[in-house]
Amino acid sequence: MQVQCAIVGGGPAGMMLGYLLARAGVNVAVFEKHPDFLRDFRGDTIHPSTLEIMFELGILDDLLKRPHQEVRELSGEIGRTRVRIGDFAHVPTHCKFVALMPQWDFLDFLAEQAQAFSTFTLMRETAVVDLITDSDRIVGFTAQTNRGPIEVRASLTVGADGRSSIVRERGGLIVEDVGAPIDVLWMRLSRKPSDPGQIFGHVEPGGIFVMFDRDEYWQCALVIAKGGIDGVQARGLAAFRERISELEPVLRDRVDELHDWSDVKLLTVKIDRLRHWSRDGLLCIGDAAHAMSPIGGVGINLAIQDAVAAANLLAEPLRRGACSPSDLKKVQERREWPTKVTQWVQALIQERVIFPTLGRTAPISVPWPVKLLDRYAVLRRIPARFVGVGVRPEHVDLRPVRRQS
Ligand SMILES: Cc1cc2nc3c(=O)[nH]c(=O)nc-3n(C[C@H](O)[C@H](O)[C@H](O)COP(=O)(O)OP(=O)(O)OC[C@H]3O[C@@H](n4cnc5c(N)ncnc54)[C@H](O)[C@@H]3O)c2cc1C
Repeated sequence: MQVQCAIVGGGPAGMMLGYLLARAGVNVAVFEKHPDFLRDFRGDTIHPSTLEIMFELGILDDLLKRPHQEVRELSGEIGRTRVRIGDFAHVPTHCKFVALMPQWDFLDFLAEQAQAFSTFTLMRETAVVDLITDSDRIVGFTAQTNRGPIEVRASLTVGADGRSSIVRERGGLIVEDVGAPIDVLWMRLSRKPSDPGQIFGHVEPGGIFVMFDRDEYWQCALVIAKGGIDGVQARGLAAFRERISELEPVLRDRVDELHDWSDVKLLTVKIDRLRHWSRDGLLCIGDAAHAMSPIGGVGINLAIQDAVAAANLLAEPLRRGACSPSDLKKVQERREWPTKVTQWVQALIQERVIFPTLGRTAPISVPWPVKLLDRYAVLRRIPARFVGVGVRPEHVDLRPVRRQS
């Protein structure tokens, strides 16, 4: 198989880049190892900056026709005190809210939009296993499909295959570990019509619990200290169920739905980034270039921003035939600073706020910065801006658009 651009991974970064390049007339294929997008371990947040990109592309209204919820305020519970932390009313975008939509619906939507372009191909059940090198240039890869092995040749290979990227490993790109002192236990519990609405964070001494409303069930996340899973399991499932009930009493009548430890998945949290995001013929974006912590739920949106920047910078050279190493370096030059700033804030919150809370036994009082946020609406604009729009938001370059066939 021969394409101009071959993208490894059909997550938010890969699907968005595939869509944008196809729209700009580049012959592009996305290779995804799973047969569908139905996977649990993904955030569901689509932030105002991503919604703005949808607006620029003229597909926002269609996206918002899909079932979703609109979160206009960031709030949480510290002990039993409810506090408001962010208010999206003033973000400089058309949508003043975070849309909560299961990520498989969002990715299905992007795939549907992209497939309208004859220049786009999505190859599911295709797991990339190795890169092909020719005189130190990456010229494609080998992959395993359900019909046997294939070889793909491309002017540009993009690694958008997430935090455990095989592309960055086989490409020999050096990873710098920022570190994350936490992991997340991920589980589902049924949701009842009488339950309260969307709840974000619940902070208690020794525990941080987050619930996402997925209509028929709650997707729940319990934050634990890194490597703490062995201790949690040693204390037994009954103690674990009791802990969840203490953290969120509304769930007490259904914690028995956790039948055994296979109902509780461990998600390892990482913060890292590549020293160089590219080499000749190869570029990494999204979590493959910089694994993001779940703090602030900004990883998907950063991945999308990388895709927009890459498409803006590379569509033209790709249409001309190939990207030079200096074309590829421009993507890192554009996106490294927002990545570093965001990771720095995530690491600070993990180390100064979350990790100490996990080791604490004394009652927690609301810290004064949070009290100020809760009291003054004007201050709540700051976290809303950081989470909702982020640092250096990207805009779609609409100039080189080629008409849809
Ligand atoms: C516990 C947890 C919760 C999170 N919650 C949120 C949240 O609420 N909001 C948010 O914005 N971010 C959240 N994040 C971060 C977010 O999930 C990532 O930053 C984001 O998914 C990165 O997108 P991506 O497209 O770069 O990679 P991914 O979403 O990881 O997608 C990579 C894709 O590549 C595919 N793939 C992998 N290897 C291969 C291969 N060899 N061949 C072919 N395909 C391959 C995978 O199947 C996958 O579809 C969370 C992270 C964690 C750990």
